[in-house]
Amino acid sequence: MIPLSEAQERVLAGCDVLDEAVVGVGQARGLVTTETVVAAELVPPFDNTAMDGFAVRSSDVADAPVTLAIAGTVAAGVPPDITVGAGQAARIMTGAVIPPGADAVVMVELTETSADGTEVTVAQSVPAGNHIRRAGEDLKVGQTVFGPGEVLTPGHLGVLTSLGLYQVKVRPRARVGVMSTGDELVEGPQPLERGQIRDSNRHTLLALLAEAGCDPVDLGSMADNEDEIAAGIRTGVEKCDALLTSGGVSMGDFDYVKKVLDEIGDMTWMQVAIKPAKPLAFGLVQGIPVFGLPGNPVSSMVSFELFARPGLRKMMGHPPGTWHRQPVMGRVAEGLRRRPDGKTHFARVRVEYADGEFLAQSAGGQGSHQLSAMAAADALAVLPDGDGLDVGEPVTLLILR
Ligand code: AMP
Ligand code: MG
Repeated sequence: MIPLSEAQERVLAGCDVLDEAVVGVGQARGLVTTETVVAAELVPPFDNTAMDGFAVRSSDVADAPVTLAIAGTVAAGVPPDITVGAGQAARIMTGAVIPPGADAVVMVELTETSADGTEVTVAQSVPAGNHIRRAGEDLKVGQTVFGPGEVLTPGHLGVLTSLGLYQVKVRPRARVGVMSTGDELVEGPQPLERGQIRDSNRHTLLALLAEAGCDPVDLGSMADNEDEIAAGIRTGVEKCDALLTSGGVSMGDFDYVKKVLDEIGDMTWMQVAIKPAKPLAFGLVQGIPVFGLPGNPVSSMVSFELFARPGLRKMMGHPPGTWHRQPVMGRVAEGLRRRPDGKTHFARVRVEYADGEFLAQSAGGQGSHQLSAMAAADALAVLPDGDGLDVGEPVTLLILR
């Protein structure tokens, strides 16, 4: 067995960063920029009011209360067609251009309009500039908005579009094919024949990929047949940036994925000192990373989490410190027992945040076939080799959601 960190290093070494691409902002969420974005416009583009109220000359209201003549109304989206003269005010709506002559805004709550709508009494004095948002107060022309390596959040997409930028240079989403293997696998709701099970891993992995920001490609299910698996992998690497297979990488007589990857690719087969997900086949076929994940449903998810997700994040240009889940310290709320076996265990736990700390307890059956506990888990609790952790002991958590 090899330590987890060594297996992860081997995988990461085989995952190269994808070539940059230009994408529309509608497709860019979660992608990583490769360019420096510079503002070519002012944001906001003009001086405008932050409040509904009246645009005034601050000198006119210095001795408030004072009554001013209403010169007109300025709405958002329309250039003002009035000038505010001495003794005048303009009714103004949030976001509207400050009309010439005015140098302050009084919010509507501090005013009272006459019954005939021709005059307004301002209750308090306001300083020059009151409630005025200046042009360029958010972004100035020539200002760097963000650099390469920025992970685009909804807020970033808003910033880009506020500048009239609808395309951005990024590392693209990795297109990742998923293929399950196993003679026992069937798809669909029909009654199972004895010995059959339904293929769940393929659907889980496709969804994990989407969640990781990749572009998942369903390559279907293969029988435990060398030629079929080889053909499937060859087709997959033609159209994808990476492949995930499930099953066929252990010690069984019909575990052909390992064998095929050995023949058609440059493969490392690893027995990693972890539980679940001990076996992992990782290789390059025509330069494309292929992750041979184990078939047990929990193992396949944990293996995705520990190996595939970090490799794919590297390919998509994420900063090195964010390839793996950031460990968080919590406390054991209910004993997490295990036996010594030379491996690090990743227990599926529910996590509750109470009194300022994360409290972890088992999410259910810890067998590698018990997917329902994985589905219920908020985190993987890292249990070092030994007898496990007692109530109250600190525990490292990899938060999954
Ligand atoms: P293997 O890694 O092929 O030896 O499979 C290990 C276990 O996982 C066996 O019990 C398989 O039946 C099960 N298994 C393999 N592939 C899948 C799959 N796609 N969906 C659900 N279970 C699977
Ligand atoms: Mg199998």
